[in-house]
Amino acid sequence: MTKVAFGGRAYEYADSETVLETLLRHKLDVPYSCKKGVCLSCMLRVIDGAIPEESQVGIRDTLRTQGYFLPCICPGDHDLTVASAEDTALFSRAVVSDVFPLAPDIKGVRLTPATELYYHAGQFINLRRADGLTRCYSLASVPSIDRQLELHVKRLPGGDMSNWIFDELQGGEVVELQGPNGSCFYLPGRADQNLLLIGTGTGLAPLIGIARDALHDGHQGDIRLYHGSRHANGLYLRRQLRDLAARHANFLYIPCLSGADVPPGVRAGRVASAVFSDLGGLADWRVFICGAPPMVEEAKKTAYLAGAAIADIHADPFELRDLRRKPRPDPSSHK
Ligand SMILES: Cc1cc2nc3c(=O)[nH]c(=O)nc-3n(C[C@H](O)[C@H](O)[C@H](O)COP(=O)(O)OP(=O)(O)OC[C@H]3O[C@@H](n4cnc5c(N)ncnc54)[C@H](O)[C@@H]3O)c2cc1C
Repeated sequence: MTKVAFGGRAYEYADSETVLETLLRHKLDVPYSCKKGVCLSCMLRVIDGAIPEESQVGIRDTLRTQGYFLPCICPGDHDLTVASAEDTALFSRAVVSDVFPLAPDIKGVRLTPATELYYHAGQFINLRRADGLTRCYSLASVPSIDRQLELHVKRLPGGDMSNWIFDELQGGEVVELQGPNGSCFYLPGRADQNLLLIGTGTGLAPLIGIARDALHDGHQGDIRLYHGSRHANGLYLRRQLRDLAARHANFLYIPCLSGADVPPGVRAGRVASAVFSDLGGLADWRVFICGAPPMVEEAKKTAYLAGAAIADIHADPFELRDLRRKPRPDPSSHK
């Protein structure tokens, strides 16, 4: 029987469990959120044993070489000794400068990190509260333009972190952050390439950062930002985005509403349909997609089928915390 050792005890894997599932089944207090290898909240460090390369996807090189890996996507089929990630290597402190409204259910948070964070606009951080509650938020700020980090947080009914940010978090409070993470960002070069940015809800946060970053860098190709929401209130920062479009001939902002009561100047319908009815082919486009996971999955597939190269499609699905303690069913068992 293969086992994972953690905190001085060894735990047997059950059939087809991941390392994280084994630890959670034994009621160990390990952090986690999406359980899909996206959010990096569950990062652990391997002390002994071999972990597959795939369980280190998305982890930056300096941590990868130290043995950090994601137990949520690491199959429990090898004897391993693992330890909690060393906090000092991962988390640093930041002071909240400002919490401000962006829409009735969206707030902006500005943070001043204690040590400079080297990041690209569009990447995400893990924000940790004093009691250890941790969630991912994308960076809407641009390092070459903004002095502070900026996050956009949507309030979810019953959500622990988002409601705390809405109701309690204030300027002056100290939080911790880990990152930057993710590969959804603009890289200079190929300045004539067209950029397509597609987002729903607070998926706008990384996209507005990417758009401002590319414009600041002198990007010459078209930059089209499609932002979708069900309600008009969710189309936040409309004035700022229109101002940006007025200042840059190559930047186009297309707000889309999938619900009723579509105001003038806003497209009716789902964001992905608007994109793909406007643009036939996407050969040689660079595509960035962020927000609700089903939209991200659908838009990724459609962008690929419309001719975008896989290497040119960058996506961050905003996965929520997976509350299930049981392993996901194997999809092949339903065939
Ligand atoms: C890469 C990435 C980037 C992200 N970027 C952003 C961003 O820029 N902005 C943003 O707003 N979000 C972003 N998210 C999502 C964010 O990380 C959080 O998941 C989100 O804020 C919700 O956290 P929460 O603690 O408020 O909700 P949680 O407490 O995690 O709850 C999530 C939902 O589950 C429900 N729930 C909780 N407990 C239970 C229960 N016991 N039974 C049934 N239902 C329950 C809640 O009601 C809530 O609706 C991102 C996620 C990822 C992975």
